Amino acid sequence: MGHASTRSVALIGLSAHVVDVEADAVPGDAELHLVGLPEMSVWPARARIRAAILNSGTAWPDMRITVSVTPMIPPIYDAAADLALAVALLAAPGAIPPERITGRVFLGELALDGGIRPVRGVLPMVAAAVRAGISRVVVPADCARDAAQVPGAVVMPVTQLADVVDQLRQGTLRDHHNQEPEPAPSSSLAVDLADVPGNQAARRALEVCAAGGHYLFLSGDGPATMLAERLPGILPRLNHEAARQVAEIYSLAGQSHRAAGITPPLSAPHHSETPTAIFGSVAANRPGAVSLAHHGVLHLADAPEFTRPVLDGLCRPMDSGQVHLAGQGRSIRYPARFTLVLDARPCPCPEGREECACTPEPRRRYRARLALLLSRVAVRAPVKQEDRAAGTGEPSATVAARVLAARVRAAHRLAETPWRTNAEVPAPDLHTRFPVAPEAAELLRSAVTTGLVTADGLPRLLRVAWTLADLRGADRPQLDDAAGALELWKGADSDGTR
Ligand SMILES: [Zn+2]
Repeated sequence: MGHASTRSVALIGLSAHVVDVEADAVPGDAELHLVGLPEMSVWPARARIRAAILNSGTAWPDMRITVSVTPMIPPIYDAAADLALAVALLAAPGAIPPERITGRVFLGELALDGGIRPVRGVLPMVAAAVRAGISRVVVPADCARDAAQVPGAVVMPVTQLADVVDQLRQGTLRDHHNQEPEPAPSSSLAVDLADVPGNQAARRALEVCAAGGHYLFLSGDGPATMLAERLPGILPRLNHEAARQVAEIYSLAGQSHRAAGITPPLSAPHHSETPTAIFGSVAANRPGAVSLAHHGVLHLADAPEFTRPVLDGLCRPMDSGQVHLAGQGRSIRYPARFTLVLDARPCPCPEGREECACTPEPRRRYRARLALLLSRVAVRAPVKQEDRAAGTGEPSATVAARVLAARVRAAHRLAETPWRTNAEVPAPDLHTRFPVAPEAAELLRSAVTTGLVTADGLPRLLRVAWTLADLRGADRPQLDDAAGALELWKGADSDGTR
């Protein structure tokens, strides 16, 4: 007879829950029984744990062992609990001193040869353990740097089950001294707006979108990607809480190396990516490209080339700031509030230029693929191939200072509300709580009556007008701001295919 208990962590989306792993050993067949879990999800785990223990040179206990995981939050077994299960089932019959596994969290998937594989999402899992008062965490060595970022965590990196068993027996499982996280490579800071030749209208549009959080459409054959890559560099730095959220999302995606500290992230998926890569997977609990853009920038280059499910599916995160996935008996939400940059060449032909010889119809059909997304976009600008003779613009630091000042002004006005940027303010509140100057309102209303702007578009124009007022330090939008918002609304669409 014997009993042992330890802890692991289960993840649903980004929310991590500490779970108790308990093992009981009684005389009987030398079998492992896992209770409280659907059999289908458990049998690979049972086979994996058995092989890992035997291949580590540890004798399989000659007893009947029952292991339970409580509460079992996701209805499917998470392989990150393998290591906790293995040490608990060895400790119950006394193969490891049971007291040495209590008060610790064990994370790691076992390989058949007894190796300990890295798991995704170590950052949110270790953070949950520390919040629950358990600071000592045993993690796969490849995840130790991630785990060590959590303040208060005492991290023990491990690579082989055999070593874990030996060290637990001898009482020598060592703590890893937490190290300062390495400064993340931040490619977006290495690029500067001063590198982009000409394109003054597009630069201005980029600045307005950074200041107000508006979505941007760049049309033409110019340096759209250069501009999009420079947007994170003019956005305000992430605060501590936002940087933590971004780091946790990248940890769950298995891309910790890409989480760029306090620089807002840039996520720029290729148009050949699947909807799962863009929106995430409920089965794998893996966030997609839209969530990797959270608190940062989502850039869709050659946007009409993306598949229909991706283009249509983007509307929900654009409207709600999150992705909702359901399947396999669970439902997951990932955050996805981003500044969107879409770009499209004028024509789908290989030339893809304004001057190509194609007829208007293929051009119209190409642009029409974006109709749903463009109905949510308030700022448009042309991008042209220009050389240095067209002038270089201001450096990113100068633009970033204006953006920050405008954001501070907006945040001050919105202090008593749940919103932080103009783009987030709901339409009814724009009218009741944040009225613009009467002449500005009149100009925008007439744009609706003449059919230039749809009724749905009016709130988007009002939000941009507020951002223009914030950028020039004014108390509320005047006629010029409304006119400026209309110019940005019309943007590049000279061919009338909005
Ligand atoms: Zn063409």
